[in-house]
Amino acid sequence: MEIQTKEKTNTQQSTQEGFDVYRVRQDFPMLQQKLNGKPFIYLDSAASGQKPQVLMDRLSDFYAHEYGKPNEQHTASKNATEMLQETRQKVADLIKAKSSDEIVFVRGCTEAINVVALGFARGLLQDGDEIIIYLMEHHANIVPWQMAAQDSGAVVKVIPLTETGELDLEALENLISDRTKIISLVHSSQILGTINPIKKITAMAHKKGIPVLVDGAQTAPHMPIDVQDLDCDFFTFSAHKMSGPTGVGVLYGKSEWLEKLPPHNGGGEMCNTVTFEQTTYKSIPKKFEAGTTSFADIISLGAVIDYHHALGMQAIADYEQELLEYGLEKLHQIKGLHILGSAPEKEPVASFTIDGVDVKELEKYLNSEWGIAVKAGSLASQPLMKHLKVEQAIRASFCYYNTKEEIDTLAQAIETFIQKDS
Ligand code: PMP
Repeated sequence: MEIQTKEKTNTQQSTQEGFDVYRVRQDFPMLQQKLNGKPFIYLDSAASGQKPQVLMDRLSDFYAHEYGKPNEQHTASKNATEMLQETRQKVADLIKAKSSDEIVFVRGCTEAINVVALGFARGLLQDGDEIIIYLMEHHANIVPWQMAAQDSGAVVKVIPLTETGELDLEALENLISDRTKIISLVHSSQILGTINPIKKITAMAHKKGIPVLVDGAQTAPHMPIDVQDLDCDFFTFSAHKMSGPTGVGVLYGKSEWLEKLPPHNGGGEMCNTVTFEQTTYKSIPKKFEAGTTSFADIISLGAVIDYHHALGMQAIADYEQELLEYGLEKLHQIKGLHILGSAPEKEPVASFTIDGVDVKELEKYLNSEWGIAVKAGSLASQPLMKHLKVEQAIRASFCYYNTKEEIDTLAQAIETFIQKDS
């Protein structure tokens, strides 16, 4: 990649209602570059977020000047232990958890869901019990529960979808039975963008004592999260999708549920006493953090959280909603283009098909001719795509470092592709 010397600016729109996107973009080295000779237009943040310089600086400082493995006795280690705990507290504050003990660091959202599913299979599910998931799940919230069902003899039931791509609450109420042991569902779909009514679901589930896991992979990066207000029992997300480091995920669990859940991995760091006959585990969250974690990356997540606080999570959410509205309007103007999902409340993703267009070809064209990164395919939700009777779709996802001009370029590029093909 070549370095672009000057960021394209438009002074008229350079400050969009208090959110200065052009200033923010200066913090992201990847966005200063050219791709295939064109300014790099990154519209694939639902897959992973671009990284602000503060993340690289924090990692570099830690490795260069502060490095020590946590939980040893020497000073460098003690400092690292403190930094790790500070980050745990920052994450707890970010999602409004009651205590930092309710924050478990894992490798990603996928692993977080697996920790819960495996724990349920090992200790909390019996033959004939029921697990409820949702038709719009990412594979990460389908496969672990299928495995848990196979291991325990439980069955997986699926909540259907309404015409507009929303959750059918009545159908969910009918699905819940005396055998339901957990409801696990996505907060916002990576394809439809629909934000699900979690508070209504947790209220319904808790009347019967059923815990609810919320897959927050697509919401944690884009809106303020309050797990106590949602009243979910588990909440999972990945740091890399929120402009944070790779290899770090968060499993939030209410302490009473984390206490009940058996650990998925055994090893050092998670145990108190070990004999060949029996092991006693550390208390939460350590019980779930066997072995050496990706602690340098975890510490660097703290810097990204600070960065987002400085921008303001609400300001980020408001600006992204503005981008979404603008993007949907632009895309709707393209003849033959069909947006998937029309729920009133959406995260900033726009997935679509276009009559007569092979979206994989369009994806390649946007990349090679326009420097635009988007994602096409079944978008990691094959059951949802089957239900929608769509084999492949293409997704543009927006983040607070994107501009309206980038969306204009996307629309222009799509129009050019359609004309070229006709
Ligand atoms: N759930 C949803 C809704 C997602 O969009 C993703 C990632 N695309 C995941 C779970 C899995 O996240 P990760 O690959 O970071 O574990």
